[in-house]
Amino acid sequence: MRTIGLIGGMSFESSAVYYRLINEMVRDRLGGLASAEVLMYSVNFEEIVALQKAGRWDDAAARLGDAALRLQIAGAECVLICTNTMHLIAQEVAARVSIPLIHIIDETAAALKAAGRVKPLLLATRYTMEHGFYTDRMAGNGVSVMVPGAEDRTVTHDIIFNELCAGIVKDQSRRQLMAIIERAKADGADSVILGCTEICLILDPNALTLPGFDTTAIHARSAVDFALGNEKAAASRAA
Ligand code: GLU
Repeated sequence: MRTIGLIGGMSFESSAVYYRLINEMVRDRLGGLASAEVLMYSVNFEEIVALQKAGRWDDAAARLGDAALRLQIAGAECVLICTNTMHLIAQEVAARVSIPLIHIIDETAAALKAAGRVKPLLLATRYTMEHGFYTDRMAGNGVSVMVPGAEDRTVTHDIIFNELCAGIVKDQSRRQLMAIIERAKADGADSVILGCTEICLILDPNALTLPGFDTTAIHARSAVDFALGNEKAAASRAA
């Protein structure tokens, strides 16, 4: 089994989900008490949030690139950035290491296309919805992403940072996200990307009025495919 390297802590609420899913999938596939070989470098999210707010993406890239290198030196054979947002600097992180970076956007695009979905709504942080890196890379993969309107983007971003990353899950916020999905459906969306690794804490991707694609679960599955030598999903190993 290959060793999975996770850059976590963004937030730790979702890193815990990654850790559980990866281990459950390995146990399901190998049976018995099998579990994954995993290394996690978990950062102080407060520092990363400050860099995001200041638009200091180069500094964030240096910080996460350093984390990736430490994982590689410790024996990781692949690296995952356990947040959609920080894929904004995935290319810089990948360039710091010689092990493959399993890219959350490529893996999600592959899952969408395998399901015949090409017009997903993207629910994510403001950075992910507005900076273009996500929609551009999806477009390069043949997927045309819809983003919510300005007000709905603010609501979604605030739910992520003020609630989900702080471990708070509110029914009222779930209803707001469901309403955003309904509006996108009326506008022609054929699916929903849970494009923030904490959204799975509040929305069940299988209980939506459109097919849901949970980036946390998709990314975790790709890591397990890699660890167990299933190269089928190894399409996108470089940023
Ligand atoms: N985990 C979130 C994501 O997938 C947001 C936290 C962050 O800004 O990195 O985008």
